Amino acid sequence: MLSGVIEVPLLDLRAQYAEIRSEIEAAVKSVLETQHFIAGPELAGFEEELAAYCETAHARGCASGSDALLLALMGIGVGPGDEVVCPSFSFFATASSISRLGAIPVFADIDPATYNADPAALRKCAEGCTRLRAILPVGLFGQSPDMEAVLEIAREHEVHVIEDAAQAIGARDAQGRPAGSRVPFGCFSFYPTKNLGAYGDGGAITTNDEAGARRIEVLRDHGGETRYHHRIVGVNSRLDALQAAVLRVKLRHLDVWSERRRANARFYDGAFAARGATDSSAAMNRDGLPVRTPRPAPAPARHIYNQYVIRVPAERREGVRLTLRERGIGTEIYYPLGLHQQECFAELGYAAGDLPETEAAAREVLAIPVYPELREEQLEYVVEQVCATVS
Ligand SMILES: *Cc1c(COP(=O)(O)O)cnc(C)c1O
Repeated sequence: MLSGVIEVPLLDLRAQYAEIRSEIEAAVKSVLETQHFIAGPELAGFEEELAAYCETAHARGCASGSDALLLALMGIGVGPGDEVVCPSFSFFATASSISRLGAIPVFADIDPATYNADPAALRKCAEGCTRLRAILPVGLFGQSPDMEAVLEIAREHEVHVIEDAAQAIGARDAQGRPAGSRVPFGCFSFYPTKNLGAYGDGGAITTNDEAGARRIEVLRDHGGETRYHHRIVGVNSRLDALQAAVLRVKLRHLDVWSERRRANARFYDGAFAARGATDSSAAMNRDGLPVRTPRPAPAPARHIYNQYVIRVPAERREGVRLTLRERGIGTEIYYPLGLHQQECFAELGYAAGDLPETEAAAREVLAIPVYPELREEQLEYVVEQVCATVS
């Protein structure tokens, strides 16, 4: 091992668990004592608390963020041949949920300063559609999309908006409104690496519409309104009581954790800038430090930094990752390809260069550790090592 190495994994869930162990153990034990594992009071309690947290009227649990997207799209009646506009720079489930219903994802390029869909690109995609049914923006890395623009485009085309807020729980948009609160269905994931992570899989859908909440309840329970009677075909998608109990404990800590992530991001912003890095809204400065940092979102927007993503020159990225790994620092590439570049979507007919900002981001992005329990010594070490490696 190299001397002076400080281990800084990309995420350290054990540090979080150490902080809340006794609360978690009590919550899990109480579920075990009841032996009530499906639905029941833990799920209902969590749904109520999540809705309050997201400032929506209702929330409904399901098995994963991917299922939340699928159920939401089913909930607005998306079907074969329909078109749904979404950004090309996102996790695979954003697009696969559309495809699984026989609908067609129409990919919009991103604004490189936010990594979210560029409103002008969304509008152009929507205008090119003949069977547009919905727009599906994503709050990538924990920053809400430009909801004002998205809602305006949706109004013009008289289609619904479904928000993929899997990475954005607790984020606020430019109007200060919480992720998942302004649309018929907001979709959340509780995959362990998300800011609110379960101890396994989990997901949820938020809505302000009582009928919409009921529709999700029916769809997630095989489409049955009364037991063993099915007018429609749904899916089996449950958030179980053990996960709900864990999530209820963790939800109480979420804002403190998010604030720590935000403080870590501010530390990075300042420390990288002091060494000559520019933020991602500027062109790469080849004379200064060849690192671009994420552009901070001004209040009342609230970026909750599920990931802190820097950009480095494409040709150096693999080398940088390798060197950082040798020095104990975990990194990840979210995402190495745009969705339009995925093999399974080849038949949609996109060519290299069609979505240049997505493709450039896919070549240059690098997520570095930003989790709440990082110590200042670790943050300083990461900045030092990144700068030494790239310059
Ligand atoms: C994690 C994630 C999902 C899917 O969530 P799962 O719970 O893993 O199914 C969907 N969209 C985005 C943007 C995600 O980050």
